[in-house]
Amino acid sequence: MLLYNIPFFRYVAANTNEGTGGKIFLLVSLAVIMLVLHFMMTYLTMFLMRTVGRVLLAILSLINATAVYFILTYSVMIDATTIENVFNTRYSEASGFFTWSLWLSILLLGVLPAVYCLLQPVVLGKAKKMGICCGGSLAVILAVASMNISQTLWISQHDTELGGLLQPWSYLVNTCRVATIHLDKQAEEIKLPDGKIMDDEKAVVVLVIGESARKANFQLYGYQRDTNPLLSKRQGLRVYPATSCATYTTAGTKAILEPKNTDNLYELLPNYAYRNGVDVSWRTSNWGEPPIHIDEYLVNEELGAQYPQEDMHYDGVLFAGLRERIASSKKSKVLIILHTSTSHGPKYADKYPKEFEVYKPVAKSVEEGEQHVGMLVNAYDNTIRYTDYLLDHLIDTLRSMDDWKSAMIFISDHGESLGENKMFMHGLPMRLAPKVQYEIPFLVWTSEHFRDYKSEKELPAVLEQHYIFHSVLNLLSIQSPAYDKDFDIFAPHFSEPLSHTERSLH
Ligand SMILES: [Zn+2]
Repeated sequence: MLLYNIPFFRYVAANTNEGTGGKIFLLVSLAVIMLVLHFMMTYLTMFLMRTVGRVLLAILSLINATAVYFILTYSVMIDATTIENVFNTRYSEASGFFTWSLWLSILLLGVLPAVYCLLQPVVLGKAKKMGICCGGSLAVILAVASMNISQTLWISQHDTELGGLLQPWSYLVNTCRVATIHLDKQAEEIKLPDGKIMDDEKAVVVLVIGESARKANFQLYGYQRDTNPLLSKRQGLRVYPATSCATYTTAGTKAILEPKNTDNLYELLPNYAYRNGVDVSWRTSNWGEPPIHIDEYLVNEELGAQYPQEDMHYDGVLFAGLRERIASSKKSKVLIILHTSTSHGPKYADKYPKEFEVYKPVAKSVEEGEQHVGMLVNAYDNTIRYTDYLLDHLIDTLRSMDDWKSAMIFISDHGESLGENKMFMHGLPMRLAPKVQYEIPFLVWTSEHFRDYKSEKELPAVLEQHYIFHSVLNLLSIQSPAYDKDFDIFAPHFSEPLSHTERSLH
């Protein structure tokens, strides 16, 4: 078990701020807790189901050996995304990983312990002995944990990394998380009242959902660096100040797609538009979106296979072939949603093609960036430059489609901390979060004579994410009781909006 957790201990040793004495104390404490906890779990499992327990332990040995090999060889972390990828990987893609060194480590670290687990005689004793063993184990765990109480904050700050390196918990816990998310996807959403498309003018809306893109680093919002060299020259681009409803992806994305702020799950924009006759396509390189029920749901790997000239590791692949996709639509209203991941940490520098590395040198990860914040900001700013290019290129594509009315909307799911007050990444509760984690960019471009924008006076100084739902209904000429003209950045398109909005939503 200590061997399976070498990456875990290595991470603790490298990242704790303790001196040598404190470091050794923490490592020994963690090893003791781990050994005693595993002893207790093993004892319980074997006590309750002797043969099944043996087989379980043998299987865990095999998976542990495989997991630790991948962690050490490819520097991966076994988080929910990794597990999702494992389940979604086809044999042909995975076969490249099957090397002699993999088989050798599975043999030594997996098969030998598994054989031992299956053959070793076991003397369990009576229930009383079991009670003493488990009680004693719990007492040891509590005692050692309380001696390390001062480490609670450090552990909670590094829980993702620590959890992703801990065998067998990394894959057991994250497999459960993935399974729960898949069950949630089946969750019943509350249907909105039917809407109706009121004209057959060709119109397309491309909604780009940004990931961790914060307002403060956009030149368009006054950042001193030229992170928006293209969009800042773009005629007719609207730049709205906005805040997100949360500081993490799942909630931020849901807020962008739902009609109003709620803990309930109302029918989401793509689902609603699709049900009412719009041609809807969702393209994603991201994770953690609410349940989407449409026919065309494409992940970056699939798009990479469809457009081999694009590198599927970068978000450019989400924008590939859009013109053809829109032009070939059999419907007059098209909604394309691109769920990007370009500014996602901790490895910002991996999220854009090399030619967008304008600000140098860059930190390769947040860990490195904690020592050199300037280098981390460089890497992050390069992701904003890449986003600038992608959005500008998208506007060019839409502009060239003369026979379509078109709109591009970009809004981020939440912001990001880049070392201010020693904070990094995002996800703090809203009441504690610094502004940079929820102040987001909200950019809109439309083709000429599409819709009239409301004047500044008619809108609040700062917009929120629910403006997307109603503004997009307007652009797609969907008349609906779910539409709320107060949450539309455009002047209402229909002179007599249906009036029972409030009632129908409650
Ligand atoms: Zn996010």
